Amino acid sequence: MLDWQQIDTVLLDMDGTLLDLHFDNYFWFEYLPVEYAKYHNKEPEEVRSYLIQLMKEAEGKIDWYCVDFWTEKLGMEIVSLKKEVDHLIAIRPAVVEFLETLHTSKKKVYLITNAHHNVLDLKLEKTQISHYFDELISSHQYGYIKEQQEFWSELSNNINFDPKRTLFIDDSQPVLESAAKYGIGHILSISQPDSNRPSRTVGNFPLLQDFSDIIEGIIPSQ
Ligand SMILES: [Mg+2]
Repeated sequence: MLDWQQIDTVLLDMDGTLLDLHFDNYFWFEYLPVEYAKYHNKEPEEVRSYLIQLMKEAEGKIDWYCVDFWTEKLGMEIVSLKKEVDHLIAIRPAVVEFLETLHTSKKKVYLITNAHHNVLDLKLEKTQISHYFDELISSHQYGYIKEQQEFWSELSNNINFDPKRTLFIDDSQPVLESAAKYGIGHILSISQPDSNRPSRTVGNFPLLQDFSDIIEGIIPSQ
């Protein structure tokens, strides 16, 4: 699937790639509507369409990923709400084994996420994977999300990498298209970002079923 000899930098998405997207889907589509309705003395069915409308408006924009935006928009502290269900934050299968193996190699490994710093902190605290990365990058520090070409230019100012010799793994189609447009040489998508939803079978990029499928060929440095 991959020729590791051709790769010296690895860029990894967090939600839906290293971590199970079930937490995020459950939070936004199940937990939040119930809590929001309770807060406003309504039934979840009454507020659901309003919340979905707000989410549609924010989709593809930095607002979608910004907890400050949602906290202000909904009048509820989003990070505190997320903490109430943080037992659902989970690492996807074989991810730790993959990160451990990468860590023994000479390759540079970066987490690049559209998640806001506060959510990133919460997830890293729960999963304890931050030591596997050379740097943890939230797109909020650049002011551009991965869907935007500006993100990739900012990234290249921030870290030293050759796009052609870089592997990028992410579960979002618009993000992967943006990376391909920028010239990232090796791209993989994720077949089942949410363990509670069906797997994808088609996509514009090769679909990774299991991280153990790409561990072979990573050579530990001496
Ligand atoms: Mg993702």
